[in-house]
Amino acid sequence: TVEDTGPEQTDGFHLVIDALKLNGIDTIYGVPGIPITDLGRLAQAEGMRVISFRHEQNAGNAAAIAGFLTKKPGICLTVSAPGFLNGLTALANATTNCFPMILISGSSEREIVDLQQGDYEEMDQLAIAKPLCKAAFRVLHAADIGIAVARAIRAAVSGRPGGVYLDLPAKLFSQVMDAEAGAKSLVKVIDPAPAQLPAPAAVKRALDVLKSAKRPLIVLGKGAAYAQADEEVRALVERSGIPYVPMSMAKGLLPDTHEQSAGAARSMVLKDADVVVLVGARLNWLLSHGKGKTWGEPGSKKFIQIDIEPKEMDSNVEIVAPLVGDIGSCVSALLDGMGQDWKAPPAEWTDAIKSRKDANLSKMSAKLLKNSAPMDFHGALGVLRTIIKERPDAILVNEGANTLDLARSVIDMYQPRKRLDVGTWGVMGIGMGFAIAAAVETGKPVLAVEGDSAFGFSGMEVETICRYDLPVCVVIFNNNGIYRGTDTDPTGRDPGTTVFVKDSRYDKMMEAFGGIGVNATTPDELARAVNEAMDSGKPTLINAVIDPHAGTESGNIGSLNPQSTVKKK
Ligand code: ADP
Ligand code: MG
Repeated sequence: TVEDTGPEQTDGFHLVIDALKLNGIDTIYGVPGIPITDLGRLAQAEGMRVISFRHEQNAGNAAAIAGFLTKKPGICLTVSAPGFLNGLTALANATTNCFPMILISGSSEREIVDLQQGDYEEMDQLAIAKPLCKAAFRVLHAADIGIAVARAIRAAVSGRPGGVYLDLPAKLFSQVMDAEAGAKSLVKVIDPAPAQLPAPAAVKRALDVLKSAKRPLIVLGKGAAYAQADEEVRALVERSGIPYVPMSMAKGLLPDTHEQSAGAARSMVLKDADVVVLVGARLNWLLSHGKGKTWGEPGSKKFIQIDIEPKEMDSNVEIVAPLVGDIGSCVSALLDGMGQDWKAPPAEWTDAIKSRKDANLSKMSAKLLKNSAPMDFHGALGVLRTIIKERPDAILVNEGANTLDLARSVIDMYQPRKRLDVGTWGVMGIGMGFAIAAAVETGKPVLAVEGDSAFGFSGMEVETICRYDLPVCVVIFNNNGIYRGTDTDPTGRDPGTTVFVKDSRYDKMMEAFGGIGVNATTPDELARAVNEAMDSGKPTLINAVIDPHAGTESGNIGSLNPQSTVKKK
């Protein structure tokens, strides 16, 4: 006799996995626990890559940068309440940076949460997530999972990309439904980030302004890097002959050694340019809001801005030629309008930039050759600069204060989307999450250059790096503290508030998990260790001993740091 098992069934777990896979999402970054432990297990069994972290914020940062690198939303999976909140920091950071990601958190039962009757990890997660991301959805019925995942994907990647929250209550996962109906309920998102073409009149307006320029400048931002319109952007720069400066994560969109790069004359060009074309860069604090001392005489600038987000226009100063659309389409339209015989900017302008650039670069190059112990930042960065030059396809992750500011100007980048750093918030803690996702998503070697303080926010993930045997080399610029390692407690009771344990050996942390640890005290030792790590692809952590006196308070942004002028007697 044939046993009648009835029609085949599926459940919430499988529908979530199938919906993600149907949309080409193959990796989940998360931390297991109730109620999503089995979701991770089943996803792995179904062939997805599931990378389990030690803390949700790091998994969330990994998902966010995966989104930046691939233009597909990175997925972060967490448990309810505290796990959700940990992931939420990364979701908010992703949204601020315009990185597409989806935070999927399990949650407790609606009936109990809404009556506030004290459930296990009770929290109204949907309400809390809403103001911190682009969109937030909750799914109560298994039959709605397909449409919910589709909406989450579309919300994350269309228009200005950002973070999306998807709330999945525990009960949803075990809800069963007919397998065939389940399969039919899934939605494959067609054209999730549709091209957005600029209006012809807007293109003409922008070109008219640009034609009138005597001292034009292009600013490339991380939106331009994200857009993956690399050829168009390069053509715009080269065919117009206009000097450009890359924002931090746009470095390498064109090689930093490009003759039109004005990166080494940044202060001069921002001050003196008359027309500035912003390509996927916001006039936020990182560009001094488009006004003030940095930008020279008040009223001396005309801004053309390319951005997918219409509301970005006039956010800080007047934009005389807004060009709303995706960067690929906008830049192509400009190129079409420019034709082949566009007049290069006056030589007076480009020559002045060149001489300033040469002067600044030769001033710096002397500092990079210092082979002394203890190392200073420049001596250590000099060797890392050479290593990236020799391995242009490696990915550089960078955070810290001085470690960030100095590495950004010292280490040239040669390829797009190879520099990943603290982004719009200037936040510490992205290091290991970014490094892990960069290795997972690209398979390329990753060099993470970390201040000792910055590393501390995500340091436990070196275990994750070892567990997944990722080609990540972490270099810790260890100057014994935040900014510097020299603070003391005026009362003599405790260590100073910004110092860490003296002569710490972070390399031993890596050894504890089977990775390679190296203590490097000179630039030569540092170069040898990093080269070895990049060749072998073995998880490595190098404790680079930096002079505790090296470094300045708050790095380059000391002016943002309020100080007391009141002296207590
Ligand atoms: P940076 O910090 O490098 O200056 P921002 O994060 O401030 O860069 O700016 C990035 C900008 O790029 C955002 O305003 C965002 O809306 C925009 N953007 C992101 N993706 C695209 C795209 N595909 N097309 C056009 N603009 C985009
Ligand atoms: Mg430090």
